Amino acid sequence: MVLSERARTLEPSATLAVVAKAKAMKREGKPVISFGAGEPDFNSPESALKYAVEAMEKGYTHYTPGTGIPELKEAVCSYYSRRFGLEYAPGDVVVGAGAKILLYEALSCLVDPGDEVIVFAPAWVSYVEQIRLCGGKEIIVDTSETSSIPDLNEVKRVISDKTKCMMINSPNNPTGAVYDEETLKGLASIAVEKDIVIIYDEIYEQLVYGDAAHHQIVALAPEVRDHTIIINGVSKAYAMTGWRIGYALGPSELMAKVGAVQGHLTSNPCSIAQYAALGALKEADDDIVKMHGHFSDRRDLILKLLGDVPLIEFVEPQGAFYVLVNVKKALGKSSDGEKLTDDVHFCQKLLDKSYVAMVPGSAFFAPGHIRVSYSNSTEEIVEGIKRLKEFIEKLS
Ligand code: PMP
Ligand code: GLU
Repeated sequence: MVLSERARTLEPSATLAVVAKAKAMKREGKPVISFGAGEPDFNSPESALKYAVEAMEKGYTHYTPGTGIPELKEAVCSYYSRRFGLEYAPGDVVVGAGAKILLYEALSCLVDPGDEVIVFAPAWVSYVEQIRLCGGKEIIVDTSETSSIPDLNEVKRVISDKTKCMMINSPNNPTGAVYDEETLKGLASIAVEKDIVIIYDEIYEQLVYGDAAHHQIVALAPEVRDHTIIINGVSKAYAMTGWRIGYALGPSELMAKVGAVQGHLTSNPCSIAQYAALGALKEADDDIVKMHGHFSDRRDLILKLLGDVPLIEFVEPQGAFYVLVNVKKALGKSSDGEKLTDDVHFCQKLLDKSYVAMVPGSAFFAPGHIRVSYSNSTEEIVEGIKRLKEFIEKLS
């Protein structure tokens, strides 16, 4: 068998791999604490469960319109109107089986082989692989020296006549950075001037802490509306990762094509999950406030605990639920006589020896770092960071 070039060069999702390994070790009875998954540990909101049960009882278990049930699309529009003052028509919304597939569908509508897509690194694992699956080429703009926020001059510098899209993710996975107004306005103006489409992934928009504020790029720079596809969903803020519901909003012409692609890939997302998402969008505001409070407390706790761990450095995240930790000073040291060569090796040893799962930064174009997801309980955070500290203290 000869696999396609596409399949041969594809890297499996590092985040999903860590989650799978941690879960397998737990099943074997190992006391694993996972900071791997970007997945809240809370139950999905009551309203989501209620709407899902009702949907099953009413027999809503058949195909729905390919781009989602009208009620959910209307709820998404009304959310965007309430939260950001943006008016989108239900016809310009596509509901998909998670934000992930919508990102891919958007890219597949915009990128021809050889086209370039700007990605700000560190970046979430799936962006680059999805671009490559579409035959595109990622153009990485490193933000590690600019507080995880892109430098506009650098963005202008890398644009070529092949640049089709720019992927913006704020709040950011894995850095937790929240883009400021000036940068977003600058990126919007570049997109309009150079006719580049912005894929604006704001799946963590409700998860910002302290004085930080999330900015919606189209609300901030209305002139970029026809150049922007917004990606969001219920996975993170509503703790509904397993239901697999995301939504995209954008200009009619593009959204019609995104819907058409989805019609050939998955058809509609799960009918019952769509009703669950409807319940969440309509009646889970109180749950969101509660979960946000827990995340904020966990963030304070983990930052305090990490502050006591030797040899590591990190920038305080303002959003999402990740801390990107620089472990470069620990690399080159030995654990049980074995020299830690890189962040992948560091994470392997940490999991095998201390039963703590974290994701290597190189999966996010951040070599020498590890991503710590604090979407788990306070007790787990305390015990897990204690184990990380002991692991590092024992390095020689
Ligand atoms: N974008 C980012 C930045 C993410 O971290 C994730 C991870 N879940 C997604 C999109 C996809 O989310 P989902 O498919 O669960 O809706
Ligand atoms: N987005 C989450 C993460 O980065 C969930 C896993 C995935 O889809 O990559 O961990």
